[in-house]
Amino acid sequence: MQQLTFTGPDALEWRDVDEPRLHSDRAALVRPLAVATCDLDALIIAGASPFQPPFAIGHECVAEILDVGDGVGSLQPGQLVSVPFQISCGACEACAAGRTANCSGVAFMSTYGFGPAVEQWGGFLADVVSVPFAEHMLVPIPGGLEPAAVASASDNLSDAWRAVGPALAEQPGADVLVVGGAGPGSIGLYAAGLAVALGAGSVMYVDADERRRETAAKLGAGTLAETPRRLGPYSVTVDASADPDGLALALRSTAPDGVCTSTAIYFAEQPPMPLLEMYTKGITFRTGRVNARDAMPHVIELAASGALRPELVTTAVVPWAQAPDALLERGWTKLVITR
Ligand SMILES: [Zn+2]
Ligand SMILES: [Zn+2]
Repeated sequence: MQQLTFTGPDALEWRDVDEPRLHSDRAALVRPLAVATCDLDALIIAGASPFQPPFAIGHECVAEILDVGDGVGSLQPGQLVSVPFQISCGACEACAAGRTANCSGVAFMSTYGFGPAVEQWGGFLADVVSVPFAEHMLVPIPGGLEPAAVASASDNLSDAWRAVGPALAEQPGADVLVVGGAGPGSIGLYAAGLAVALGAGSVMYVDADERRRETAAKLGAGTLAETPRRLGPYSVTVDASADPDGLALALRSTAPDGVCTSTAIYFAEQPPMPLLEMYTKGITFRTGRVNARDAMPHVIELAASGALRPELVTTAVVPWAQAPDALLERGWTKLVITR
Protein backbone atom coordinates (compact mmCIF):
# COMPACT_ATOMS: atom_id res chain seq x y z
CA MET A 1 0.00 0.00 0.00
CA GLN A 2 0.99 3.64 -0.27
CA GLN A 3 1.87 5.85 2.66
CA LEU A 4 2.71 9.54 2.50
CA THR A 5 6.14 9.98 4.06
CA PHE A 6 7.85 13.10 5.36
CA THR A 7 11.39 12.71 4.05
CA GLY A 8 12.97 16.08 4.91
CA PRO A 9 12.18 19.79 5.19
CA ASP A 10 9.52 20.60 2.57
CA ALA A 11 9.76 17.09 1.13
CA LEU A 12 6.94 14.52 1.06
CA GLU A 13 6.64 11.36 -1.04
CA TRP A 14 4.33 8.39 -1.42
CA ARG A 15 6.20 5.24 -0.38
CA ASP A 16 5.17 1.63 -0.88
CA VAL A 17 4.99 -0.26 2.40
CA ASP A 18 3.47 -3.54 3.58
CA GLU A 19 -0.16 -3.35 4.67
CA PRO A 20 -0.62 -3.76 8.41
CA ARG A 21 -2.39 -6.97 9.49
CA LEU A 22 -4.76 -7.73 12.33
CA HIS A 23 -2.25 -8.55 15.04
CA SER A 24 -4.62 -9.15 17.96
CA ASP A 25 -8.23 -9.99 18.81
CA ARG A 26 -8.73 -6.44 20.05
CA ALA A 27 -7.40 -4.69 16.92
CA ALA A 28 -9.09 -3.24 13.85
CA LEU A 29 -7.90 -2.24 10.41
CA VAL A 30 -9.27 1.05 9.09
CA ARG A 31 -9.08 3.01 5.84
CA PRO A 32 -8.77 6.80 6.34
CA LEU A 33 -11.38 8.64 4.23
CA ALA A 34 -10.87 12.23 5.40
CA VAL A 35 -7.48 13.27 6.81
CA ALA A 36 -6.99 16.72 8.34
CA THR A 37 -3.81 18.63 9.05
CA CYS A 38 -2.85 19.21 12.67
CA ASP A 39 -1.40 22.65 13.43
CA LEU A 40 1.83 20.84 14.30
CA ASP A 41 2.03 19.29 10.81
CA ALA A 42 3.07 22.69 9.41
CA LEU A 43 6.10 22.72 11.73
CA ILE A 44 6.88 19.07 11.01
CA ILE A 45 6.82 19.61 7.24
CA ALA A 46 8.99 22.74 7.53
CA GLY A 47 11.55 20.72 9.50
CA ALA A 48 10.94 23.01 12.50
CA SER A 49 9.76 20.34 14.97
CA PRO A 50 11.78 17.91 17.13
CA PHE A 51 10.44 15.01 15.02
CA GLN A 52 13.10 13.94 12.56
CA PRO A 53 12.40 12.36 9.13
CA PRO A 54 11.68 9.99 7.58
CA PHE A 55 8.27 8.98 8.89
CA ALA A 56 4.65 8.56 7.77
CA ILE A 57 2.65 11.73 8.28
CA GLY A 58 -1.00 12.48 9.18
CA HIS A 59 -2.68 11.99 12.56
CA GLU A 60 -6.25 13.29 12.29
CA CYS A 61 -8.88 11.31 10.40
CA VAL A 62 -12.30 9.83 9.96
CA ALA A 63 -11.92 6.29 8.65
CA GLU A 64 -13.97 3.33 7.49
CA ILE A 65 -13.54 0.06 9.37
CA LEU A 66 -12.18 -2.65 7.07
CA ASP A 67 -11.79 -5.57 9.49
CA VAL A 68 -11.95 -6.28 13.20
CA GLY A 69 -10.40 -8.89 15.50
CA ASP A 70 -12.48 -11.74 16.96
CA GLY A 71 -12.71 -9.98 20.31
CA VAL A 72 -14.26 -6.81 18.85
CA GLY A 73 -18.03 -7.12 19.21
CA SER A 74 -19.27 -3.54 19.11
CA LEU A 75 -17.80 -2.45 15.77
CA GLN A 76 -18.44 -3.71 12.23
CA PRO A 77 -16.67 -3.35 8.88
CA GLY A 78 -18.12 -0.43 6.93
CA GLN A 79 -18.69 1.76 10.01
CA LEU A 80 -17.31 5.32 9.99
CA VAL A 81 -15.16 6.17 12.99
CA SER A 82 -13.00 8.93 14.37
CA VAL A 83 -9.50 7.66 15.19
CA PRO A 84 -7.62 9.32 18.10
CA PHE A 85 -4.06 10.36 17.28
CA GLN A 86 -2.88 8.88 20.56
CA ILE A 87 -2.71 5.14 21.17
CA SER A 88 -4.35 4.14 24.45
CA CYS A 89 -5.43 0.81 25.91
CA GLY A 90 -8.67 1.67 27.69
CA ALA A 91 -7.84 -0.74 30.50
CA CYS A 92 -5.19 0.92 32.66
CA GLU A 93 -5.74 3.27 35.60
CA ALA A 94 -4.94 6.39 33.55
CA CYS A 95 -7.36 5.42 30.77
CA ALA A 96 -10.11 4.63 33.30
CA ALA A 97 -9.73 8.20 34.61
CA GLY A 98 -9.88 9.66 31.07
CA ARG A 99 -6.17 10.49 31.10
CA THR A 100 -5.61 8.65 27.83
CA ALA A 101 -2.59 10.78 26.82
CA ASN A 102 -0.62 9.06 29.56
CA CYS A 103 -1.90 5.50 29.08
CA SER A 104 0.42 3.13 30.93
CA GLY A 105 -0.47 0.21 28.67
CA VAL A 106 1.62 1.53 25.77
CA ALA A 107 4.96 3.31 25.37
CA PHE A 108 4.92 6.94 26.58
CA MET A 109 3.49 9.37 23.99
CA SER A 110 2.53 6.62 21.54
CA THR A 111 0.88 8.36 18.60
CA TYR A 112 0.27 8.11 14.89
CA GLY A 113 2.11 10.42 12.50
CA PHE A 114 5.12 11.53 14.53
CA GLY A 115 7.63 8.82 13.64
CA PRO A 116 9.96 6.61 15.62
CA ALA A 117 10.48 9.19 18.39
CA VAL A 118 7.07 8.14 19.71
CA GLU A 119 6.86 4.59 18.35
CA GLN A 120 6.06 3.36 14.85
CA TRP A 121 2.30 3.23 14.23
CA GLY A 122 2.36 4.85 10.80
CA GLY A 123 0.40 7.89 9.65
CA PHE A 124 -3.16 8.42 8.46
CA LEU A 125 -2.25 9.35 4.86
CA ALA A 126 -2.14 5.63 4.15
CA ASP A 127 -4.49 3.06 2.64
CA VAL A 128 -4.72 0.94 5.81
CA VAL A 129 -4.05 1.82 9.45
CA SER A 130 -3.91 -0.59 12.37
CA VAL A 131 -5.78 0.35 15.55
CA PRO A 132 -4.61 -1.88 18.42
CA PHE A 133 -7.41 -1.30 20.98
CA ALA A 134 -10.33 -0.78 18.62
CA GLU A 135 -13.35 -0.91 20.96
CA HIS A 136 -11.76 1.62 23.28
CA MET A 137 -10.09 3.91 20.74
CA LEU A 138 -12.57 4.23 17.89
CA VAL A 139 -15.55 6.59 18.22
CA PRO A 140 -18.40 5.97 15.72
CA ILE A 141 -19.48 8.95 13.60
CA PRO A 142 -23.27 9.55 13.70
CA GLY A 143 -25.12 9.34 10.38
CA GLY A 144 -25.46 12.60 8.48
CA LEU A 145 -22.16 14.00 9.70
CA GLU A 146 -19.73 14.76 6.85
CA PRO A 147 -16.38 12.96 7.51
CA ALA A 148 -14.41 16.01 6.29
CA ALA A 149 -16.16 18.27 8.81
CA VAL A 150 -15.02 16.29 11.86
CA ALA A 151 -11.69 14.91 10.66
CA SER A 152 -9.94 17.05 13.30
CA ALA A 153 -11.82 15.41 16.18
CA SER A 154 -8.79 13.08 16.41
CA ASP A 155 -6.65 15.90 17.79
CA ASN A 156 -7.07 19.68 17.23
CA LEU A 157 -10.84 19.87 17.83
CA SER A 158 -10.44 17.80 20.98
CA ASP A 159 -7.44 19.89 22.03
CA ALA A 160 -9.61 23.02 21.72
CA TRP A 161 -12.48 21.39 23.64
CA ARG A 162 -10.37 20.63 26.71
CA ALA A 163 -9.45 24.33 26.89
CA VAL A 164 -13.07 25.51 27.20
CA GLY A 165 -15.39 22.52 27.79
CA PRO A 166 -14.52 21.55 31.38
CA ALA A 167 -14.11 25.23 32.45
CA LEU A 168 -17.52 26.20 31.02
CA ALA A 169 -19.09 23.15 32.70
CA GLU A 170 -17.75 24.49 36.02
CA GLN A 171 -18.78 28.09 35.24
CA PRO A 172 -21.76 27.97 32.85
CA GLY A 173 -22.21 31.15 30.81
CA ALA A 174 -18.74 32.49 31.65
CA ASP A 175 -17.04 34.99 29.34
CA VAL A 176 -14.19 33.47 27.31
CA LEU A 177 -11.01 34.96 25.85
CA VAL A 178 -9.06 33.03 23.20
CA VAL A 179 -5.63 34.24 22.06
CA GLY A 180 -5.04 32.41 18.79
CA GLY A 181 -2.42 32.17 16.10
CA ALA A 182 -0.11 29.23 16.90
CA GLY A 183 1.13 27.75 13.61
CA PRO A 184 -1.70 27.55 11.05
CA GLY A 185 -4.04 28.50 13.90
CA SER A 186 -6.94 26.04 13.83
CA ILE A 187 -6.95 25.21 17.56
CA GLY A 188 -7.70 28.77 18.70
CA LEU A 189 -10.52 29.04 16.17
CA TYR A 190 -12.01 25.72 17.27
CA ALA A 191 -11.78 26.91 20.90
CA ALA A 192 -13.68 30.10 20.02
CA GLY A 193 -16.34 28.13 18.09
CA LEU A 194 -16.69 25.57 20.88
CA ALA A 195 -17.04 28.30 23.53
CA VAL A 196 -19.91 29.80 21.52
CA ALA A 197 -21.48 26.35 21.05
CA LEU A 198 -21.19 25.63 24.77
CA GLY A 199 -23.07 28.78 25.72
CA ALA A 200 -20.32 31.14 26.84
CA GLY A 201 -21.61 34.58 27.85
CA SER A 202 -19.30 36.20 25.33
CA VAL A 203 -16.27 35.07 23.34
CA MET A 204 -13.38 37.32 22.32
CA TYR A 205 -10.80 36.04 19.81
CA VAL A 206 -7.44 37.84 19.53
CA ASP A 207 -5.26 37.25 16.45
CA ALA A 208 -3.21 39.49 14.13
CA ASP A 209 -4.26 37.38 11.12
CA GLU A 210 -7.22 38.91 9.28
CA ARG A 211 -8.48 35.73 7.61
CA ARG A 212 -8.61 33.87 10.91
CA ARG A 213 -10.39 36.79 12.57
CA GLU A 214 -13.02 36.62 9.82
CA THR A 215 -13.47 32.91 10.53
CA ALA A 216 -13.78 33.60 14.27
CA ALA A 217 -16.49 36.15 13.54
CA LYS A 218 -18.39 33.55 11.45
CA LEU A 219 -18.14 31.21 14.43
CA GLY A 220 -19.84 33.85 16.58
CA ALA A 221 -16.87 35.43 18.40
CA GLY A 222 -15.88 39.07 18.75
CA THR A 223 -12.40 39.77 17.41
CA LEU A 224 -9.37 41.95 18.09
CA ALA A 225 -6.21 42.29 15.96
CA GLU A 226 -3.88 43.77 18.59
CA THR A 227 -2.37 42.01 21.59
CA PRO A 228 -2.79 44.52 24.45
CA ARG A 229 -1.29 44.03 27.89
CA ARG A 230 -4.61 42.95 29.36
CA LEU A 231 -8.32 42.61 28.53
CA GLY A 232 -11.46 41.70 30.37
CA PRO A 233 -11.28 40.13 32.91
CA TYR A 234 -12.52 36.76 31.63
CA SER A 235 -13.28 33.75 33.83
CA VAL A 236 -12.04 31.37 31.11
CA THR A 237 -8.99 32.18 29.01
CA VAL A 238 -7.09 30.21 26.37
CA ASP A 239 -3.56 30.67 25.08
CA ALA A 240 -3.46 29.11 21.62
CA SER A 241 -0.84 31.58 20.41
CA ALA A 242 2.60 30.02 21.06
CA ASP A 243 3.63 33.66 21.56
CA PRO A 244 4.96 34.80 24.97
CA ASP A 245 2.95 38.04 24.64
CA GLY A 246 -0.18 36.03 23.88
CA LEU A 247 0.36 33.79 26.90
CA ALA A 248 0.93 36.85 29.12
CA LEU A 249 -2.25 38.48 27.76
CA ALA A 250 -4.30 35.36 28.52
CA LEU A 251 -2.90 35.08 32.04
CA ARG A 252 -3.26 38.78 32.93
CA SER A 253 -6.81 38.80 31.53
CA THR A 254 -7.96 35.87 33.67
CA ALA A 255 -10.48 36.91 36.33
CA PRO A 256 -9.94 36.06 40.03
CA ASP A 257 -10.46 32.29 40.53
CA GLY A 258 -10.55 31.88 36.74
CA VAL A 259 -8.94 29.19 34.59
CA CYS A 260 -6.32 29.73 31.87
CA THR A 261 -5.47 26.82 29.59
CA SER A 262 -2.54 26.87 27.17
CA THR A 263 -2.81 24.48 24.24
CA ALA A 264 0.35 25.97 22.69
CA ILE A 265 3.71 24.21 22.55
CA TYR A 266 6.72 26.35 23.49
CA PHE A 267 9.55 24.40 21.84
CA ALA A 268 12.27 27.04 22.17
CA GLU A 269 12.62 29.72 24.82
CA GLN A 270 10.33 29.22 27.81
CA PRO A 271 8.17 32.33 28.30
CA PRO A 272 7.97 34.13 31.66
CA MET A 273 4.67 34.01 33.55
CA PRO A 274 3.13 36.73 35.80
CA LEU A 275 3.19 34.41 38.81
CA LEU A 276 2.64 37.11 41.45
CA GLU A 277 -0.55 38.29 39.71
CA MET A 278 -1.67 34.67 39.25
CA TYR A 279 -1.02 33.97 42.94
CA THR A 280 -2.83 37.09 44.09
CA LYS A 281 -5.92 36.34 41.98
CA GLY A 282 -5.92 32.59 42.56
CA ILE A 283 -5.67 31.66 38.90
CA THR A 284 -5.57 28.05 37.77
CA PHE A 285 -3.20 27.44 34.85
CA ARG A 286 -3.46 24.27 32.81
CA THR A 287 -1.25 22.98 30.02
CA GLY A 288 -0.20 19.58 28.69
CA ARG A 289 -1.02 17.18 25.90
CA VAL A 290 -4.74 16.65 25.25
CA ASN A 291 -6.45 13.44 26.33
CA ALA A 292 -7.87 13.11 22.83
CA ARG A 293 -9.93 9.94 23.27
CA ASP A 294 -11.66 11.41 26.30
CA ALA A 295 -12.60 14.65 24.49
CA MET A 296 -13.61 13.21 21.08
CA PRO A 297 -17.24 12.24 21.89
CA HIS A 298 -17.94 15.79 23.13
CA VAL A 299 -16.86 17.51 19.90
CA ILE A 300 -18.49 14.90 17.67
CA GLU A 301 -21.78 15.36 19.56
CA LEU A 302 -21.60 19.17 19.24
CA ALA A 303 -20.94 18.88 15.50
CA ALA A 304 -23.76 16.34 15.05
CA SER A 305 -26.21 18.64 16.84
CA GLY A 306 -25.29 21.54 14.56
CA ALA A 307 -24.18 23.71 17.52
CA LEU A 308 -20.59 23.59 16.23
CA ARG A 309 -19.65 23.99 12.57
CA PRO A 310 -15.98 22.94 12.40
CA GLU A 311 -16.08 23.05 8.58
CA LEU A 312 -16.00 26.88 8.82
CA VAL A 313 -12.34 26.56 9.90
CA THR A 314 -11.40 24.34 6.92
CA THR A 315 -9.58 26.37 4.27
CA ALA A 316 -9.43 23.69 1.57
CA VAL A 317 -10.66 20.15 0.85
CA VAL A 318 -8.53 18.35 -1.75
CA PRO A 319 -8.55 14.87 -3.34
CA TRP A 320 -6.20 12.19 -1.98
CA ALA A 321 -3.68 12.29 -4.86
CA GLN A 322 -3.11 16.01 -4.31
CA ALA A 323 -2.07 15.58 -0.67
CA PRO A 324 1.69 16.24 -1.06
CA ASP A 325 1.28 19.33 -3.26
CA ALA A 326 -1.47 20.80 -1.12
CA LEU A 327 0.46 20.18 2.10
CA LEU A 328 3.64 21.78 0.70
CA GLU A 329 1.72 24.77 -0.66
CA ARG A 330 1.02 25.95 2.91
CA GLY A 331 -1.25 28.90 3.57
CA TRP A 332 -3.87 26.55 5.04
CA THR A 333 -5.44 26.95 8.44
CA LYS A 334 -6.98 23.49 8.06
CA LEU A 335 -6.45 21.32 5.01
CA VAL A 336 -8.64 18.23 4.64
CA ILE A 337 -7.63 15.45 2.23
CA THR A 338 -10.45 13.13 1.18
CA ARG A 339 -11.19 10.09 -1.01
ZN1 LIG B 1 -1.45 17.04 16.32
ZN1 LIG C 1 -4.37 2.75 29.06
